[in-house]
Amino acid sequence: MQDLRNTDIKFLPGIGPTRAKVLREELGINTWHDLLYYFPFKHIDRSRLYTIRELSADMPFVQICGWFLSFEELGTGRKKHLVGRFTDGQSVMELVWFANYRYITKSLQVHRKYIVFGRPSVFNGRINITHPDVDPEDTLLLSKMRMQPYYSITEKMRKSGLSSRTLEHFTSNLFQQLKEPIPETLPQYLVDRLCLMPLDQALRAAHYPSTADELSRATMRLKFEELFYIQLSIIRYTRERTRQTRGHIFSVVGEHFNTFYHKYLPFELTDAQKRVIREMRIDMGRGRQMNRLLQGDVGSGKTLVALMTMLIAIDNGYQTCIMAPTEILAEQHLDTFRTFLADMPVRVELLTGVVKGKRRTAILEGLQRGEVDILIGTHAVIEDKVEFNNLGLVVIDEQHRFGVAQRARLWRKNTTSPHVLVMTATPIPRTLAMTLYGDLDVSVIDQLPPGRKPIKTLHLYDTRPDDLYRLLLREIGAGRQAYVVYPLVKESMKVDLLNVEDGFRHLQEIFPQYRVGMVHGQMKSADKDAQMQLFVSGETQILVATTVIEVGVNVPNASVMVIQNAERFGLSQLHQLRGRVGRGADQSYCILVTGYELARDTRRRIQIMTETNDGFEIAEEDLKLRGPGDLEGTQQSGVAFDLRLANLARDGQLVQLARETATDVLDSDPTLSAPDNQFLWHQLQIMRQGQQDWSQIS
Ligand code: ADP
Ligand code: MG
Repeated sequence: MQDLRNTDIKFLPGIGPTRAKVLREELGINTWHDLLYYFPFKHIDRSRLYTIRELSADMPFVQICGWFLSFEELGTGRKKHLVGRFTDGQSVMELVWFANYRYITKSLQVHRKYIVFGRPSVFNGRINITHPDVDPEDTLLLSKMRMQPYYSITEKMRKSGLSSRTLEHFTSNLFQQLKEPIPETLPQYLVDRLCLMPLDQALRAAHYPSTADELSRATMRLKFEELFYIQLSIIRYTRERTRQTRGHIFSVVGEHFNTFYHKYLPFELTDAQKRVIREMRIDMGRGRQMNRLLQGDVGSGKTLVALMTMLIAIDNGYQTCIMAPTEILAEQHLDTFRTFLADMPVRVELLTGVVKGKRRTAILEGLQRGEVDILIGTHAVIEDKVEFNNLGLVVIDEQHRFGVAQRARLWRKNTTSPHVLVMTATPIPRTLAMTLYGDLDVSVIDQLPPGRKPIKTLHLYDTRPDDLYRLLLREIGAGRQAYVVYPLVKESMKVDLLNVEDGFRHLQEIFPQYRVGMVHGQMKSADKDAQMQLFVSGETQILVATTVIEVGVNVPNASVMVIQNAERFGLSQLHQLRGRVGRGADQSYCILVTGYELARDTRRRIQIMTETNDGFEIAEEDLKLRGPGDLEGTQQSGVAFDLRLANLARDGQLVQLARETATDVLDSDPTLSAPDNQFLWHQLQIMRQGQQDWSQIS
């Protein structure tokens, strides 16, 4: 058998050194194996030609053979488009291009024979196809009468004369060169048990399927394999760590916890809060290191859960720390903790960039001597510079900004790793969590404290500000407060800042009877604090702000969240901002203000926001709209998203199947040493060689 991984691509007939160089540089294709795994991004069914008369708008993709009669540019400005009149010899239809059509008029000729491909639709009662694929009929011979693969290529490849069609030649040559079947990469017993397509067949069908059905079975087999090995690697590592790493044993729930629970806690815990505290207590008591992800929607009371878990650690003689992503949030935790703990004998300290000099030295010394029980700080500060006497528990707030690698760095400092609790403000969809945080146990707070009314979310256009003012007037008149948020992104900082300041002045003019405050990231820390304080104490009724208030801020009397230019925010950000209201017993409102013309994705985001308050649902939708690579935090998380085919948003069930299968395999053979599984072990090694070894950290 030819060693595909070690056969240079230049030895494939038709390639040679020059083209090999382009393939290497542009697509990272070095070997025959790489080319085999460079999959087409779509296939076109070339097995049937339609006549124009047969077409209707409910058809999927179709292809028609014929020629152009004429081209005509119509419309003006942004409505400009190109119409080609196309005939199959019996009837005529229109092919329409709205953008980038200059090359079309250049490259297409009237009266030459073409095959066009696309999805029919109806416009003004007539069938047309917008943005069809057009190929000269004579270039299509190669793939006539079957599903034709389309490969992505780069601009540079195009310039070097390499097209999707050329790649088609290459892959087809490759398959002809293979004298034996490509060896299976999953144990035969799994292939049989799950009725998977054998690898050889799957790879051929992924490029050259004979039917759409065969293609989908091939894709499913290859996706499964990708996901399976990821899960196998994660689960195997997690189990190994569990066996090897000892954790502090928190054997008691003592004085601090009990006193707090019985004497200081101002309300009943929700059942969900009780459940997750119990989960953690058990986890921290059994002698292994806890690594737990606490998911809970905004306002579900995660902070309190964290505090009570920390009290358990303190009861067992350990120190704890909680890391927040921003200074505002760290300061707020300090406030919250001090208020909750009142005069309990627990020493809480805050360490941020602004804590300097003697104060800082005192805190650092207190930490080393084991006198500080709870250290609150920002990631940046706590990460490197702080030494504890006996750190037992680390809480990381707003996990999505804190990567796996950073987590790892934390507990290398200590000999016995502290327990780790990471809290997400943005719920992560299950399928993503399984892959991204597959090494963490998960606790979920799926319940809000009682008495909260669901927030009403409305969408208003900025052309009609009166509706907005009326609502503000009514709410503030009834004694409540409102946030008005403007986007602030780095690139257009100056303009945005002007917007915030304009908005501030404007609201002052409209509501002279009320006091308006303003916070943004460009202000000095002390000014920011002062402004926040005025709002918290109710002295200002309206707070104009940027996203600095995005996470964590807690003012129960605020009942209106106005988000200006809502089109510029992502879903999870909108949801976070909305979570700043609805914290008291009053009906709260979130007003999304946008311009009149919205892109389709934006419209969808706004629609999702107005339809649901459920953070988990929103996270799923976000994943669908943006794809996992774009989800906040996944880039920094340290996970190489090396998925060629599988899509974490769409292939949830396969992720599940992969996880269950990997669990089964490891249950029956933990070290993968059975003869049938040797191969799996070997594959894991190969996989790890090529990748950043993310499963080794955390
Ligand atoms: P999260 O961090 O999950 O977004 P917080 O911890 O900020 O939520 O809690 C939101 C608000 O709900 C806070 O004012 C908190 O004191 C309050 N809270 C938490 N748990 C309860 C409960 N069981 N009953 C009533 N109020 C609660
Ligand atoms: Mg919080």
